[in-house]
Amino acid sequence: MHHATFAAPDLTTFCRLDELGLEVVGQRLEPDRAVIECRVVEDDPWCRKCGAEGAPRDTVTRPLAHEPFGHRPTTLLIRLFRVECGVRRRDRR
Ligand SMILES: [Zn+2]
Repeated sequence: MHHATFAAPDLTTFCRLDELGLEVVGQRLEPDRAVIECRVVEDDPWCRKCGAEGAPRDTVTRPLAHEPFGHRPTTLLIRLFRVECGVRRRDRR
């Protein structure tokens, strides 16, 4: 007989967002829609131009339409940490 094991409830894996490299950090449930706030698990901190480690610049959120769970439309809100070139930034000081 198969014995199912239960893990702790986890919205990230329930929504299969781990497969997208995302982690759920918040949720907002309204009667007719739901918003799931996510962050990128592996942010890329490196400057794409010179390869130096970037300096944190700001955080932006990007809404992303997602498949409905049940009949409720669900929006993914992705939180992105943006970096700027650390070398250029030091030169400006
Ligand atoms: Zn750079």
